[in-house]
Amino acid sequence: MQYINIANEGVKSLSPYQAGKPIEELERELGISNIIKLASNENPFGLPESAKQAISQQLNDLTRYPDANGFELKAAISRKFGVNPNQITLGNGSNDLLELIAHTFANETDEIIYSQYAFIVYPLVTKAINAVAREIPAKNWGHDLDGFLNAINDKTKLIYIANPNNPTGNFLGEAEIDAFLAKVPESVIVVLDEAYTEFTAESERVDSFKLLQKYSNLVICRTLSKAYGLAGLRIGYAVSNPEIADLFNRVRQPFNCNSLALAAAVAVMQDDDFVAKVAENNRLEMARYEQFCQQQGLEFIPSKGNFITIDFKRPAAPIYEALLREGVIVRPIAGYGMPNHLRISIGLPSENDRLFGALLKVLG
Ligand SMILES: *Cc1c(COP(=O)(O)O)cnc(C)c1O
Repeated sequence: MQYINIANEGVKSLSPYQAGKPIEELERELGISNIIKLASNENPFGLPESAKQAISQQLNDLTRYPDANGFELKAAISRKFGVNPNQITLGNGSNDLLELIAHTFANETDEIIYSQYAFIVYPLVTKAINAVAREIPAKNWGHDLDGFLNAINDKTKLIYIANPNNPTGNFLGEAEIDAFLAKVPESVIVVLDEAYTEFTAESERVDSFKLLQKYSNLVICRTLSKAYGLAGLRIGYAVSNPEIADLFNRVRQPFNCNSLALAAAVAVMQDDDFVAKVAENNRLEMARYEQFCQQQGLEFIPSKGNFITIDFKRPAAPIYEALLREGVIVRPIAGYGMPNHLRISIGLPSENDRLFGALLKVLG
């Protein structure tokens, strides 16, 4: 029996998600320690103290189910951003939400629009539900929103936009997004995935909550995995109009967010100092990466996220492998159709120094 033959049609075209290589795996392979990982856009500062405290207080309650409605976290998000708790949906990471949105609105005959080189979860979700993928060719590695508009038809149900985009770092300003939303029919759900928004300078950041007041079909997705440092706990949130949030809450698994994640998230949502420190490190270190690339004649895609994507103008796999032997894990993105690029997460100054040294050695 070949079970793939009886799998859902869309599943047959999927391959498993390629995550960044775990540090422990490389340690086992090479038998070396002091490995650094700049591969998964994680927070280089580690778990904030505020989250540690919240988690240790929560430990005694782990025999109980979590609060299915995430009351405290919704209240914290509501206070911070001036949105109503009934607009919020919590997810087991924002990947959970990206999938939930597709399950809520799209089925086999529907079309889902996203960009070439956009976050890989969009095609993954689209294929898993066997919907029709409309992948729009990228413009300078980023979203071609005119191309998106041209692709909209009666069957279009969903549009995914990552801003800043992963793995390229491309960014769309508020005016562009506003003008785009004004032209999208109300019946098409637009998902604005802002996993990296905290790394964009405040003066440039899109005020997406303001856009939400204008566009009833907008769904904003955010995560605590990046700037907030909770990637291992899995927690994210969506903000939409209340009617859409109600639909999500019908479809989601009742206890999709665990107690430790909820407690830690409440704490870090109020930990503005931690997020400010993270963003400032990113700003300063991103400038060093850009300068390094310029000095070495390496072409990069300007990024508003916490990572930088370098074009080596030749297959990057051997460079990736050689960096592994130096104890530095970065992220190959051939799976995105970018075999000449590597994506490097911005680390602490000392980690970035390691990367610069290793890259110089590897490139000879
Ligand atoms: C990292 C990332 C996410 C967040 O994933 P989580 O499931 O919240 O950890 C969402 N969208 C994009 C574009 C990302 O890069």
